[in-house]
Amino acid sequence: MAHPCQCVVGCTTCANLRRGEAIAFPGISDIRDVYKREKIWSKVKKALEEEGKIPG
Ligand SMILES: [Zn+2]
Repeated sequence: MAHPCQCVVGCTTCANLRRGEAIAFPGISDIRDVYKREKIWSKVKKALEEEGKIPG
């Protein structure tokens, strides 16, 4: 087979479907990025609470 999908080369529908699969199964690095970001935000929020800038 020249290409995985049965359509023309550069078929955007198949390209989108394949991209959807990638989103459905994110890599561990993506999960770690989100986790890291959330942790950073909670630290910033805690600091603001301690400074009395936002209610705790
Ligand atoms: Zn296609």
